[in-house]
Amino acid sequence: MSYNIAQLDKQDVLAPKRALFNLPEEVIYLDGNSLGALPKASVERIQQVVNQQWGNDLISSWNKHNWIDLPLQTGEKIAPLLGAGPDQVVVCDSISVNLYKLLITALTMQSGRAKVVSEQDNFPTDLYMVQGVQTLLGETRCQLISVASEDIENALTDDVAVLMLTHINFRTGRIHDMQRLTRLAHQKGIIVIWDLAHSAGAVPLALDECNVDFAVGCGYKYLNGGPGAPAFLYAAKRHHNKISQPLNGWMGHAKPFEFSPRYDAAPGIKQFLTGTPSIIAMAALDAALDVFDSVSMAQIRQKSSALTELFLHLKRQHPALDDLVLCSPTDSELRGSQLSFSHPAAYAICQALIDHNVVPDFRAPDIVRFGFTPLYLSFADVAKAIAVLHNIMQQRLYTHNKYRTKAAVT
Ligand SMILES: *Cc1c(COP(=O)(O)O)cnc(C)c1O
Repeated sequence: MSYNIAQLDKQDVLAPKRALFNLPEEVIYLDGNSLGALPKASVERIQQVVNQQWGNDLISSWNKHNWIDLPLQTGEKIAPLLGAGPDQVVVCDSISVNLYKLLITALTMQSGRAKVVSEQDNFPTDLYMVQGVQTLLGETRCQLISVASEDIENALTDDVAVLMLTHINFRTGRIHDMQRLTRLAHQKGIIVIWDLAHSAGAVPLALDECNVDFAVGCGYKYLNGGPGAPAFLYAAKRHHNKISQPLNGWMGHAKPFEFSPRYDAAPGIKQFLTGTPSIIAMAALDAALDVFDSVSMAQIRQKSSALTELFLHLKRQHPALDDLVLCSPTDSELRGSQLSFSHPAAYAICQALIDHNVVPDFRAPDIVRFGFTPLYLSFADVAKAIAVLHNIMQQRLYTHNKYRTKAAVT
């Protein structure tokens, strides 16, 4: 199969979306799965929120500019990307904190069961949060069972309280079958929490259709909300009247401005709010979501698969790249919007690429991870990235000492 790259870009229905982002001209950004690029709409919105709303209208902005409804409003914008109907998604806190709320909520629904099944290879913070709850409540109320990916189904026994998984693995990009695992868990009376950090905005999702109980996801990866953007939380409507989350803060109160000494949870998804939202950060995310207007997740997925397939095709043309061993699934249906390769010098290769204006990231111990964001990446970018990578590998530029020193954030 041969590719006509100019033709692919010409036919790309998502190509006009790139103009909605501020990206340095010379950089090929393959790290939108760690920190999404900056949407121009967010720049404008932040300026407006800071200068006009905060600067001029001050505290009246909570009403005048509807700051108070922003967590729900932004949640409703994310919902269609998740295949979720209204009043089930709210934007707040971080994934870690939202997992804490959901873990305790779910454990409370499951009297007599304590096991939380997860995957050894899950993103560490997800496992840490369960370990923290286990320390707090004791093993009789919460017990982390982390198993290898292939053992998940066998671990779903009827003494398990919660199945907590990340839909797309952060290292390999492997996708779990959400529908099947949710169904299998439900057959044993297990509540399911999905982490959508590498899924939301990257692949089509159908949370309602899959009957998912709870989910969390990231605002700063494929949703382009900016560094430390608030996360989102999904809770299926059928649970809303039967649950209580542990972080009872005034923003989740039914009537926060009555300042009652007694906690009385708000109805609906709002009950998951805790403290005052970070309005500037949330406004940036809210504006960033507009780039998803007028495109479907199916279109995004189709281009994402085409980009990763092109990368692999071009890589195969260069024997000098054979040492980079693919650890993502070879079948594009089974992987998210990323390609990961292992190499003993992965860290130095990453640094050399960044030095040559191609930005992937490194994941310990030995992975170079390339994220493909169809909204701002062209087919020509992929071809250029391969050319730069080839040059670095063939000339062994990565062996240079300056590429070996590790920074605090990798
Ligand atoms: C990025 C990521 C997180 C981040 O968690 P925060 O608490 O929002 O920093 C959590 N889980 C997964 C799977 C991730 O990829």
